[in-house]
Amino acid sequence: MTNRESQVEVNQQERLKEYYSKRNFEKTSEPKGGEIKSSEKPIFVIQKHDASSLHYDFRLEIDGVLKSWAVPKGPSTDPGIKRLALPTEDHPLEYADFEGVIPEDEYGAGPVIVWDTGPYRNMREEKGEGLGMADAYEDGKLEIWLEGQKISGGYALIRTGSADDARWLLIKMNDEKADARRNPTSTEPQSVLSGRTLEEVKEEKGKNSE
Ligand code: MN
Repeated sequence: MTNRESQVEVNQQERLKEYYSKRNFEKTSEPKGGEIKSSEKPIFVIQKHDASSLHYDFRLEIDGVLKSWAVPKGPSTDPGIKRLALPTEDHPLEYADFEGVIPEDEYGAGPVIVWDTGPYRNMREEKGEGLGMADAYEDGKLEIWLEGQKISGGYALIRTGSADDARWLLIKMNDEKADARRNPTSTEPQSVLSGRTLEEVKEEKGKNSE
């Protein structure tokens, strides 16, 4: 491991502190992380998660971790609709392909599927604003071009409210991928990785433990 890699690893462990503090890895099958990866193209993932309430976890690879938001209603393809996105703890990159059932007494108990995923681009940097993703995050305004199977085109994530009570809004930008008639969260419920629905993941788990 080079010096730079070990430095990245230290930072990653530090940034994932909250993630680790919430989980018991003897019980949950969620990934522990720790791998040093830097993909050529950063990725986004949207996981559908039926915990105490159903929501979509929107995650963006930024500097070696997945910055994360819980979006109760999931993303819309209609530029006229703003979706609330509540920030949650950073997740390890390995979480991007996690599907399964988080056990009952664990944080976030319930089934998880990968509802959509793909590469993304930083539109603020491309516009020549010279802002990397980490800077744009600090600035409270992300503009990204998503290339998923269900969700694609430009999206803005905009922070509102003060630091302690930060809320973000996820908004489809008005471009050729915008479509007010589509409603993929209801018409396309399956995982893009396994083709399974949340219900199927839950049932399979039930069978396996019998
Ligand atoms: Mn969640």
